[in-house]
Amino acid sequence: MCSFGYQTYEENDFEHELSFEAVCETRGFAEEIGVDTSCCMGLSEDTEVEQLASIQAVLEDGIKEAEEAGAREMGRCVMGYKWRPDGDGYRCEGGTHYVRRGEIHKYLKKKNS
Ligand SMILES: [Zn+2]
Repeated sequence: MCSFGYQTYEENDFEHELSFEAVCETRGFAEEIGVDTSCCMGLSEDTEVEQLASIQAVLEDGIKEAEEAGAREMGRCVMGYKWRPDGDGYRCEGGTHYVRRGEIHKYLKKKNS
């Protein structure tokens, strides 16, 4: 039998923690902050890695949206500017106000508990 040696790099492409467990962890976090996780319907240990990647991407988008909404609701910008992702948090378009993602998560978890 001839064996092709392609599997090593194919696997490595997705090896960056994109396991079933990693997606479950993201889902758990998304649920805690009130993100819709219906994209995870049917998620199981047998889910293909491509499917895992697309679920992960949808979850991450949802988390980002929730963070931006959370930053707005927290209303930390007294000038009423919008929030833009910046480093480990969000900065208002006025530039002077900053909210860390951790703070937003805390706020969202409280709101959804
Ligand atoms: Zn501001």
